[in-house]
Amino acid sequence: MRFTERVAIVTGAGSGIGRATALRLAREGASVIMADWSEEGLQETASHMPADATHIERKLDVSDEDGVRTLIAEVMDQFGQIDVLVNNAGISGGSYPPVTENEKGDWEKILGVNLIGAMLMIKHVAPHMQARQQGAIVNTASVAGIRSGAGGNPYSASKAGVINLTQTAACDLGGFNVRVNAVCPGLVETGMTKAVFDYARSNDKEHKLGGRCELRRYGKPEELAAAICFLASDDASYITGQALPVDGGNTASLNLPG
Ligand code: NAD
Repeated sequence: MRFTERVAIVTGAGSGIGRATALRLAREGASVIMADWSEEGLQETASHMPADATHIERKLDVSDEDGVRTLIAEVMDQFGQIDVLVNNAGISGGSYPPVTENEKGDWEKILGVNLIGAMLMIKHVAPHMQARQQGAIVNTASVAGIRSGAGGNPYSASKAGVINLTQTAACDLGGFNVRVNAVCPGLVETGMTKAVFDYARSNDKEHKLGGRCELRRYGKPEELAAAICFLASDDASYITGQALPVDGGNTASLNLPG
């Protein structure tokens, strides 16, 4: 119950890692505001919430600053505080063209959600944390932000940007006792990776999906939620500005197995 009497906002809570994180925060006592552009996804997450949990669901496009501003004002009106922000909403490119074939529009769309969306949420939440001299922000980056080869050029660049945003925001907010960290997931089975898993399963190649990491398996959303909640909790009270790979060892070795 690390989040009793705490208020947490989770973006991208309508699926995958965000859903698992919202549910875990609620199970550990938080009041959870779940934001996502999929109302259907939010309803599905809400249906799994513990019966005694306080939670609200809001449709939001994190790249829309007016929408972000309105949501944060509403949360402050209703709860009077924000203790935890999990910036998790994200999209991937879906295809991996070489840089010579990249489309400007794809870059603008992916950076708009993954990087600018995270910045907008921090911009509008952090002042309330600064005022109370308390808060923890966790951004979902990716192993793709550490090195290329997963997710396509604009996706990788957006996640590298999220890691750098994590560091700069940690510097800006550290003096106010507001911590900012990131997790860098490896391959996790979620809505985002459904096509990859469907293809592997229908071609008898599922075993290969875990082959590129030392633990020889892909990750579960709950394993990311555990790391996110650790970084958001007082257990991580002296950790800020860090990007933690949660990847089964994918980034630990150049000599990848499999
Ligand atoms: P997912 O598709 O299951 O969930 C992402 C959620 O974000 C969806 O519910 C979607 O509706 C929401 N979303 C997308 N754009 C949004 C927007 N503009 N505003 C509000 N909500 C929006 O995928 P996931 O794997 O759970 O992704 C969560 C995060 O983890 C993402 O940032 C993703 O880049 C990152 N990640 C995932 C993996 C993986 O293997 N699944 C690996 C590395 C990083």
